[in-house]
Amino acid sequence: MFKKNASRPFLIAGPCSAETEEQTLAVAHGLAPLGIDLFRAGVWKPRTRPGAFEGNGAAALPWLRRVKAETGLRTTIEVANGKQVYEALKFGIDVLWIGARTTVNPFSVQEIADALQGVDVPVLVKNPVNPDLDLWIGGIERIRNAGVTQVGAVHRGFSSYAKSKFRNAPYWEIPIELRRRMPDLPLICDNSHICGNREDLLEVAQQALDLNYEGLMTETHCDPDQAWSDAKQQITPFVYGELLSRLIVRRETTDNPEFLENLENLRHKIDEVDLELLNLLARRMRFAEDIGRYKLRNNISILQTARWNEILEKAFMQGRSRDLSDEFIEKFLSAVHRESIEHQTKVMQGTVAEGQCR
Ligand code: PEP
Ligand code: MN
Repeated sequence: MFKKNASRPFLIAGPCSAETEEQTLAVAHGLAPLGIDLFRAGVWKPRTRPGAFEGNGAAALPWLRRVKAETGLRTTIEVANGKQVYEALKFGIDVLWIGARTTVNPFSVQEIADALQGVDVPVLVKNPVNPDLDLWIGGIERIRNAGVTQVGAVHRGFSSYAKSKFRNAPYWEIPIELRRRMPDLPLICDNSHICGNREDLLEVAQQALDLNYEGLMTETHCDPDQAWSDAKQQITPFVYGELLSRLIVRRETTDNPEFLENLENLRHKIDEVDLELLNLLARRMRFAEDIGRYKLRNNISILQTARWNEILEKAFMQGRSRDLSDEFIEKFLSAVHRESIEHQTKVMQGTVAEGQCR
């Protein structure tokens, strides 16, 4: 389960919600010829505000059974509690997924895990709505501890108050770190919930493939504008087919010796630059400590907001002409600044010796 092949990722597609039996079957029949691996549809819908369409519940489960009978597609739905797990399994749903609003709550995830004891059905765990990697990993561990052997992670982006072009900020560094910590865990990108629109779906899907994700989960609907939930981000099976044909599936590696040698040389250069950066950062910290000593002698506080703003503004300008984004400059310099403050604090507290070598 959840394995890509040489020419395409593992594909999950289907409507945000199973609205009616006809709509569910129409989407499934539109997708089946594209050879997708799993048909998704929301049956219980966790909605942000009351009054929105909250799904048809268990009444929609026979529709999914019909999807499987008529198209041969395996099916997946979101479950948010133990009762929903029992209902889904009763109707032969092949894969369960835990939604972002459920992963945040260890009680709910544990309840689902308890309901899964002794039933080895594959489960996908979406990232929690908040950017908390440990909470995501905790959810995965709870499901694995229940004896589920086929677990995958779905990256659907993270809520943020700040407006951006994405509905849910991808924060790619979080799934990259998840991959580092759990190298064998299949990772699937839900480009629909990251984007919240149709225009950026391809770009986000491509980015996920270039980061070696196993698969994609994409919302599709025969009449997206009229969808009862997430209308703005759904695409027709036809448009979905076009998106798939435009995706470039690159190989993870090759044994071509010339490629490997060139790559090795370039990596060596990167390693050298990284070492230079570390040496420069260490040098910068020594200067920060000197300033700390100076401030200590003159009884001046550590944080100087005006100076920090000035550094940032100047760096944004300098970064732009060097093709470095404001976002990166801000993250990088904030980390450097925080470290400097820590060094200065140690000086103030007398834990850094006077005249340490530079
Ligand atoms: C969904 O997949 O339709 C859904 C509700 O997703 P999420 O849990 O990512 O918000
Ligand atoms: Mn949705």
